[in-house]
Amino acid sequence: MNAQGLSINLATVREQWNLGEAVEACAKLGIKAVDPWRDQVAKFGLNNSAKVIKDNGMQVTGYCRGGMFTASDAKGRAAAIDDNKHAIDEAAALGADCLVLVVGGVPQGSKDIEGARLQVAEGINAVLDHARAAKVPLAIEPLHPMYAADRACVNTLRQALDLAGQIAPDVGVAIDVYHVWWEPGLAEQIARAGREKRIFAHHICDWLVPTKDILLDRGMMGDGVIDLKAFRGMIEGAGFHGPQEVEIFSAGDWWKKPGEQVLKTCIERYNKFCK
Ligand code: ZN
Repeated sequence: MNAQGLSINLATVREQWNLGEAVEACAKLGIKAVDPWRDQVAKFGLNNSAKVIKDNGMQVTGYCRGGMFTASDAKGRAAAIDDNKHAIDEAAALGADCLVLVVGGVPQGSKDIEGARLQVAEGINAVLDHARAAKVPLAIEPLHPMYAADRACVNTLRQALDLAGQIAPDVGVAIDVYHVWWEPGLAEQIARAGREKRIFAHHICDWLVPTKDILLDRGMMGDGVIDLKAFRGMIEGAGFHGPQEVEIFSAGDWWKKPGEQVLKTCIERYNKFCK
Protein backbone atom coordinates (compact mmCIF):
# COMPACT_ATOMS: atom_id res chain seq x y z
CA MET A 1 0.00 0.00 0.00
CA ASN A 2 1.43 3.31 -1.10
CA ALA A 3 1.09 6.22 1.30
CA GLN A 4 3.13 8.65 -0.80
CA GLY A 5 1.41 12.04 -0.79
CA LEU A 6 -0.77 11.22 2.19
CA SER A 7 -0.83 13.12 5.47
CA ILE A 8 -2.75 12.24 8.61
CA ASN A 9 -4.37 14.96 10.66
CA LEU A 10 -3.84 13.48 14.10
CA ALA A 11 -7.39 14.28 15.19
CA THR A 12 -8.27 11.26 13.06
CA VAL A 13 -6.73 8.93 15.66
CA ARG A 14 -6.98 11.18 18.72
CA GLU A 15 -9.07 8.71 20.70
CA GLN A 16 -6.72 5.80 20.04
CA TRP A 17 -3.23 7.22 20.61
CA ASN A 18 -1.20 10.04 22.08
CA LEU A 19 0.87 12.12 19.67
CA GLY A 20 4.01 10.00 19.93
CA GLU A 21 2.17 6.73 19.39
CA ALA A 22 0.26 8.19 16.46
CA VAL A 23 3.40 9.50 14.72
CA GLU A 24 5.17 6.18 15.17
CA ALA A 25 2.18 4.23 13.90
CA CYS A 26 2.05 6.47 10.81
CA ALA A 27 5.77 6.02 10.17
CA LYS A 28 5.43 2.25 10.43
CA LEU A 29 2.88 2.27 7.61
CA GLY A 30 4.98 4.51 5.36
CA ILE A 31 3.00 7.69 6.03
CA LYS A 32 5.39 10.62 5.80
CA ALA A 33 3.30 13.59 6.96
CA VAL A 34 1.06 14.54 9.88
CA ASP A 35 -0.83 17.53 11.25
CA PRO A 36 -1.04 17.62 15.05
CA TRP A 37 -3.52 19.55 17.23
CA ARG A 38 -2.51 21.93 19.97
CA ASP A 39 -4.10 19.89 22.76
CA GLN A 40 -2.22 16.80 21.58
CA VAL A 41 1.05 18.72 21.57
CA ALA A 42 0.29 20.19 25.00
CA LYS A 43 -0.31 16.72 26.43
CA PHE A 44 2.75 15.10 24.86
CA GLY A 45 4.98 18.14 25.38
CA LEU A 46 6.21 20.54 22.71
CA ASN A 47 9.82 19.34 22.78
CA ASN A 48 8.83 15.67 22.80
CA SER A 49 6.42 16.30 19.93
CA ALA A 50 9.04 18.10 17.85
CA LYS A 51 11.50 15.29 18.56
CA VAL A 52 9.26 12.36 17.61
CA ILE A 53 8.20 14.20 14.44
CA LYS A 54 11.81 14.88 13.49
CA ASP A 55 13.06 11.41 14.43
CA ASN A 56 10.46 9.89 12.13
CA GLY A 57 11.22 12.26 9.25
CA MET A 58 7.67 13.61 9.17
CA GLN A 59 6.54 16.59 7.16
CA VAL A 60 4.11 18.69 9.22
CA THR A 61 1.43 19.72 6.73
CA GLY A 62 -0.19 22.11 9.18
CA TYR A 63 -0.77 22.88 12.81
CA CYS A 64 -4.32 22.86 14.18
CA ARG A 65 -5.26 25.34 15.12
CA GLY A 66 -5.13 29.06 15.54
CA GLY A 67 -7.94 31.53 15.03
CA MET A 68 -10.98 32.03 17.25
CA PHE A 69 -10.35 35.78 17.01
CA THR A 70 -13.88 36.87 17.83
CA ALA A 71 -14.94 37.87 21.34
CA SER A 72 -17.53 40.03 23.01
CA ASP A 73 -15.02 42.48 24.44
CA ALA A 74 -11.58 43.95 23.76
CA LYS A 75 -10.01 41.90 26.52
CA GLY A 76 -11.22 38.67 24.92
CA ARG A 77 -9.94 39.71 21.53
CA ALA A 78 -6.53 40.65 22.98
CA ALA A 79 -6.35 37.27 24.71
CA ALA A 80 -7.09 35.56 21.39
CA ILE A 81 -4.30 37.47 19.66
CA ASP A 82 -1.91 36.50 22.42
CA ASP A 83 -2.95 32.86 22.18
CA ASN A 84 -2.44 32.91 18.41
CA LYS A 85 1.10 34.15 18.89
CA HIS A 86 1.75 31.13 21.12
CA ALA A 87 0.25 28.87 18.46
CA ILE A 88 2.55 30.43 15.86
CA ASP A 89 5.59 29.79 18.08
CA GLU A 90 4.54 26.16 18.56
CA ALA A 91 3.99 25.74 14.82
CA ALA A 92 7.50 27.10 14.23
CA ALA A 93 8.98 24.69 16.79
CA LEU A 94 7.26 21.80 15.02
CA GLY A 95 8.36 22.97 11.57
CA ALA A 96 4.76 23.19 10.38
CA ASP A 97 4.02 24.23 6.80
CA CYS A 98 1.27 26.54 8.06
CA LEU A 99 -0.92 27.43 11.02
CA VAL A 100 -4.53 26.57 10.21
CA LEU A 101 -6.92 29.34 11.27
CA VAL A 102 -10.47 28.46 12.29
CA VAL A 103 -11.39 32.08 12.59
CA GLY A 104 -14.16 32.16 15.20
CA GLY A 105 -17.92 32.56 15.13
CA VAL A 106 -20.38 35.12 16.41
CA PRO A 107 -19.35 36.27 19.91
CA GLN A 108 -21.54 35.20 22.80
CA GLY A 109 -24.54 37.48 23.18
CA SER A 110 -24.02 39.07 19.77
CA LYS A 111 -26.15 38.85 16.63
CA ASP A 112 -23.68 40.75 14.48
CA ILE A 113 -22.02 38.33 12.08
CA GLU A 114 -20.60 41.10 9.88
CA GLY A 115 -19.04 42.62 12.99
CA ALA A 116 -17.54 39.23 13.78
CA ARG A 117 -16.02 39.15 10.30
CA LEU A 118 -14.38 42.52 10.90
CA GLN A 119 -12.94 41.18 14.17
CA VAL A 120 -11.45 38.26 12.25
CA ALA A 121 -9.70 40.55 9.79
CA GLU A 122 -8.36 42.63 12.68
CA GLY A 123 -7.17 39.54 14.50
CA ILE A 124 -5.27 38.15 11.52
CA ASN A 125 -3.71 41.55 10.86
CA ALA A 126 -2.61 41.71 14.48
CA VAL A 127 -0.66 38.43 14.33
CA LEU A 128 0.72 38.69 10.81
CA ASP A 129 4.07 40.25 11.71
CA HIS A 130 4.61 37.63 14.40
CA ALA A 131 3.84 34.87 11.89
CA ARG A 132 6.19 36.34 9.31
CA ALA A 133 9.01 36.65 11.82
CA ALA A 134 8.49 33.01 12.83
CA LYS A 135 8.21 31.96 9.15
CA VAL A 136 4.84 30.33 9.77
CA PRO A 137 2.37 30.95 6.94
CA LEU A 138 -1.23 31.57 8.04
CA ALA A 139 -3.93 29.51 6.33
CA ILE A 140 -7.55 30.61 6.70
CA GLU A 141 -9.81 27.57 6.66
CA PRO A 142 -13.33 28.36 5.50
CA LEU A 143 -15.79 26.18 7.42
CA HIS A 144 -19.15 24.86 6.26
CA PRO A 145 -21.88 27.44 7.06
CA MET A 146 -23.40 25.18 9.72
CA TYR A 147 -20.48 26.34 11.91
CA ALA A 148 -20.94 30.08 11.22
CA ALA A 149 -22.30 30.80 14.69
CA ASP A 150 -19.89 28.89 16.89
CA ARG A 151 -16.69 28.21 14.97
CA ALA A 152 -16.06 30.23 11.85
CA CYS A 153 -17.88 33.12 10.21
CA VAL A 154 -15.80 32.58 7.06
CA ASN A 155 -17.77 29.97 5.19
CA THR A 156 -16.82 29.76 1.54
CA LEU A 157 -13.55 29.54 -0.33
CA ARG A 158 -14.53 32.69 -2.21
CA GLN A 159 -15.00 34.55 1.07
CA ALA A 160 -11.73 33.21 2.50
CA LEU A 161 -9.84 34.33 -0.62
CA ASP A 162 -11.49 37.76 -0.51
CA LEU A 163 -10.46 38.08 3.13
CA ALA A 164 -6.90 36.89 2.51
CA GLY A 165 -6.69 39.32 -0.40
CA GLN A 166 -7.75 42.22 1.82
CA ILE A 167 -5.07 41.34 4.37
CA ALA A 168 -1.88 40.45 2.51
CA PRO A 169 -0.42 38.52 -0.43
CA ASP A 170 1.18 35.95 1.89
CA VAL A 171 -1.99 34.90 3.75
CA GLY A 172 -3.38 31.67 2.34
CA VAL A 173 -6.15 29.14 2.72
CA ALA A 174 -6.58 25.55 3.84
CA ILE A 175 -9.00 23.87 1.47
CA ASP A 176 -10.95 21.13 3.22
CA VAL A 177 -13.28 19.15 0.99
CA TYR A 178 -15.71 18.68 3.89
CA HIS A 179 -16.35 22.40 4.14
CA VAL A 180 -16.45 23.56 0.54
CA TRP A 181 -17.40 20.59 -1.66
CA TRP A 182 -20.90 22.06 -2.16
CA GLU A 183 -19.77 25.60 -3.02
CA PRO A 184 -21.18 27.01 -6.26
CA GLY A 185 -18.32 28.11 -8.50
CA LEU A 186 -15.82 25.97 -6.58
CA ALA A 187 -13.64 25.19 -9.63
CA GLU A 188 -13.26 28.86 -10.36
CA GLN A 189 -12.32 29.66 -6.74
CA ILE A 190 -9.76 26.83 -6.54
CA ALA A 191 -8.18 28.06 -9.78
CA ARG A 192 -8.13 31.58 -8.33
CA ALA A 193 -6.51 30.32 -5.12
CA GLY A 194 -3.79 28.75 -7.26
CA ARG A 195 -3.22 31.89 -9.31
CA GLU A 196 -2.93 33.91 -6.11
CA LYS A 197 -0.56 31.27 -4.62
CA ARG A 198 -2.73 30.89 -1.57
CA ILE A 199 -3.24 27.12 -1.32
CA PHE A 200 -1.30 26.06 1.78
CA ALA A 201 -3.11 22.83 2.69
CA HIS A 202 -5.62 20.33 1.32
CA HIS A 203 -7.75 18.33 3.79
CA ILE A 204 -9.85 15.32 2.84
CA CYS A 205 -12.61 13.09 4.24
CA ASP A 206 -16.15 12.53 2.96
CA TRP A 207 -19.66 13.89 3.50
CA LEU A 208 -22.01 11.20 4.76
CA VAL A 209 -25.71 11.03 3.93
CA PRO A 210 -27.27 11.33 6.39
CA THR A 211 -24.78 13.17 8.61
CA LYS A 212 -25.79 12.29 12.17
CA ASP A 213 -23.71 14.84 14.06
CA ILE A 214 -22.63 18.17 12.61
CA LEU A 215 -19.20 18.03 14.22
CA LEU A 216 -18.25 14.44 14.87
CA ASP A 217 -19.63 12.42 11.97
CA ARG A 218 -17.22 12.95 9.12
CA GLY A 219 -16.93 10.11 6.66
CA MET A 220 -14.01 8.05 5.42
CA MET A 221 -13.10 8.80 1.81
CA GLY A 222 -15.35 6.82 -0.51
CA ASP A 223 -18.25 6.54 1.93
CA GLY A 224 -19.99 9.78 0.98
CA VAL A 225 -20.92 12.10 -1.86
CA ILE A 226 -17.73 14.07 -2.52
CA ASP A 227 -16.00 13.46 -5.86
CA LEU A 228 -12.54 13.41 -4.32
CA LYS A 229 -10.64 12.60 -7.54
CA ALA A 230 -12.27 15.53 -9.31
CA PHE A 231 -11.56 17.76 -6.31
CA ARG A 232 -7.89 16.77 -6.27
CA GLY A 233 -7.75 17.36 -10.01
CA MET A 234 -8.81 20.96 -9.42
CA ILE A 235 -6.27 21.38 -6.61
CA GLU A 236 -3.41 20.02 -8.72
CA GLY A 237 -4.62 21.98 -11.72
CA ALA A 238 -4.22 25.05 -9.52
CA GLY A 239 -0.59 24.11 -8.89
CA PHE A 240 -0.76 22.58 -5.39
CA HIS A 241 0.94 19.19 -5.20
CA GLY A 242 1.38 18.91 -1.45
CA PRO A 243 -0.02 16.02 0.57
CA GLN A 244 -3.71 15.28 0.92
CA GLU A 245 -4.37 15.40 4.66
CA VAL A 246 -7.01 13.08 6.08
CA GLU A 247 -9.02 14.78 8.82
CA ILE A 248 -11.84 12.69 10.23
CA PHE A 249 -13.74 13.42 13.44
CA SER A 250 -15.92 10.38 13.95
CA ALA A 251 -17.15 9.73 17.47
CA GLY A 252 -19.55 6.98 16.44
CA ASP A 253 -17.38 5.07 14.01
CA TRP A 254 -13.68 5.63 13.22
CA TRP A 255 -12.67 6.83 16.69
CA LYS A 256 -13.95 3.51 18.01
CA LYS A 257 -11.88 1.33 15.69
CA PRO A 258 -8.29 0.25 16.34
CA GLY A 259 -5.91 2.99 15.19
CA GLU A 260 -3.94 0.73 12.88
CA GLN A 261 -7.11 -0.29 11.08
CA VAL A 262 -8.07 3.36 10.66
CA LEU A 263 -4.68 4.27 9.17
CA LYS A 264 -4.68 1.28 6.83
CA THR A 265 -8.17 2.20 5.66
CA CYS A 266 -7.03 5.79 5.07
CA ILE A 267 -4.20 4.57 2.85
CA GLU A 268 -6.42 2.15 0.95
CA ARG A 269 -9.21 4.69 0.36
CA TYR A 270 -6.74 7.42 -0.52
CA ASN A 271 -5.31 5.23 -3.27
CA LYS A 272 -8.73 4.17 -4.51
CA PHE A 273 -10.74 7.39 -4.34
CA CYS A 274 -8.45 10.40 -4.06
CA LYS A 275 -5.89 10.39 -6.85
ZN1 ZN B 1 -9.76 20.82 7.85
